[in-house]
Amino acid sequence: MSNHALQNAAEILRKSRCTIAFTGAGISVESGIPPFRGPGGVWSKYDPEKFEKGYFKRHPEEVWHLLKEIFYDTQARAKPNPAHLALAELEAAGRLAAVITQNIDGLHQAAGSKTVYEYHGSTRRMQCLDCRTFFDAATISLDILPPPCPHCGGLLKPDFVFFSEAIDFDVHREATELAKGSDVCLIVGTGGEVMPAGRIPLVTRNAGGTVIEINRFETRYSYGFSDIFLQGKAGTMLPKLVDLILG
Ligand SMILES: [Zn+2]
Repeated sequence: MSNHALQNAAEILRKSRCTIAFTGAGISVESGIPPFRGPGGVWSKYDPEKFEKGYFKRHPEEVWHLLKEIFYDTQARAKPNPAHLALAELEAAGRLAAVITQNIDGLHQAAGSKTVYEYHGSTRRMQCLDCRTFFDAATISLDILPPPCPHCGGLLKPDFVFFSEAIDFDVHREATELAKGSDVCLIVGTGGEVMPAGRIPLVTRNAGGTVIEINRFETRYSYGFSDIFLQGKAGTMLPKLVDLILG
């Protein structure tokens, strides 16, 4: 990756009237959060079928033990890394309209990002499947599994999308509208394998926008689709790019 490409990306982002960032697992790996897919990913160790909503309802105690192990014992202590912080800085400077993320770890908000579309929900919220009330996960004790709903004693479920569950239509619609009206989509840490989220950069591109990609490894976006591909770690590349933009 040449310095020229980085300069070029910074120039495009400086001139952009509306930029969105589209993020995925690669941005959170540097915070110690394993991706779902690929070697070492969550699905290489756990059976995805257990994260199907019907199975969860039939075996809530078993699945809650897994949820606690995967998300709440370790990931709850994860901290945002320089890539999350750089995006928050860009937004605070008025240079980034929103982050559209596939991640469920809440690290963009923890870094200070204000406008975040969580395509697949978040582990940081829970919803009661009986009375539908939402709770901040930090307020729910996991000493007893499954944790009972504080209001009605019903079954709480982390508010991220399980298999066989539909994504939140409002988030999908709003994120798509925003992507359509943006002139730059900055892809960070994702190859867009999961649909329909993976189409977000295509929406910007089809509306005449520019796609800038930061990924450690080549993805299906990298050649022929992304206008600029900046290969490297998000935690290294993004702060450099943001420094150039905000100069
Ligand atoms: Zn309830």
